[in-house]
Amino acid sequence: NRIITSNLKYEDYEIENTLRPRRIDDYIGQNKVKEKLKIFIEAAKRRNESLDHVLLYGPPGLGKTTLANIIANEMGVNIKITSGPAIERQGDLAAILTNLEENDVLFIDEIHRLNRNVEEILYPAMEDYVLDIVIGKGPSAKSIRLDLSKFTLIGATTRAGLLTSPLRDRFGVICKLDFYDVENLKKIIIRSAYILGVKIDEDGANEIAKRSRGTPRIANRLLKRVRDYAQVVEDGVITKSVAQKALELLEVDEMGLDNVDKRLLYTIIYKFNGGPVGLDTLAASTGEESNTIEDVYEPYLLQLGFINRTPRGRVVTKKCLDYFNIKLDELG
Ligand code: ADP
Repeated sequence: NRIITSNLKYEDYEIENTLRPRRIDDYIGQNKVKEKLKIFIEAAKRRNESLDHVLLYGPPGLGKTTLANIIANEMGVNIKITSGPAIERQGDLAAILTNLEENDVLFIDEIHRLNRNVEEILYPAMEDYVLDIVIGKGPSAKSIRLDLSKFTLIGATTRAGLLTSPLRDRFGVICKLDFYDVENLKKIIIRSAYILGVKIDEDGANEIAKRSRGTPRIANRLLKRVRDYAQVVEDGVITKSVAQKALELLEVDEMGLDNVDKRLLYTIIYKFNGGPVGLDTLAASTGEESNTIEDVYEPYLLQLGFINRTPRGRVVTKKCLDYFNIKLDELG
């Protein structure tokens, strides 16, 4: 039920597609990535070729799926969207690949979760646009090679390091998406409010932006909830004080932290004297999964400078203690 999770929630489905920018110039922030992609897209279009394979990595909700759609749109080709865990067998991937048309985009979200044997047929497909499949079993098994249309694979993952190196090496373009600053989040919120027909002023947008954990998905979700509050409790306009009251009710503090973050930080502070504490120990003491801590909670806390990763585990920083008004000598 966590409102500020960066993972996709059921309630997001309704608005995410409406709010997705379609053109690269409407995609806010991530300037280095946009600049790079614009050049590669233009060059591929001029040569009438497919774009090189692209790997997008960064925490959830930062705009990887959106960017994949934009790339296909700017290239003027179709996009087929799937995810690593959805492709169970080689045959599933073969069916997808053989249905692609010339220069199409295949987007594989969570590409690090592909089965190893599925991944293996992706290598020749990416490199030479061929598919090597074995039909049958035992002595009568036959290997056949199929030619594929040229296509662009866009892979998305939370951390590039999760990919095997043969897969990572086959991407010509590798882009890292960063957390958004408050200014860019504000622009995203104002744009979304306009599309949703919500009245909001600059200070209202700023208040939501500050608490969105650098993540457009969270910004849009908070906007939606604050809109509900503004409509039901206030006069429908999102101002600074309306946003503050709504977000207080949602238990999202002015840094965008909620009870889950606080529990995690307080565990390090009070149970482990500020750390270092290993990831698995931390997971066991908070009842969370290590992966979730690493992929979902921790990136923003690291970005804020509230925790550090050391070879011996996680430690909280002075900045974190200051924020919660905890004195160093309170720790054992
Ligand atoms: P990811 O695939 O990285 O998890 P998405 O591409 O699904 O993230 O983005 C989540 C939501 O955030 C989308 O609905 C999209 O509207 C919005 N969004 C993401 N990046 C941007 C951006 N740069 N500009 C405007 N909106 C964005």
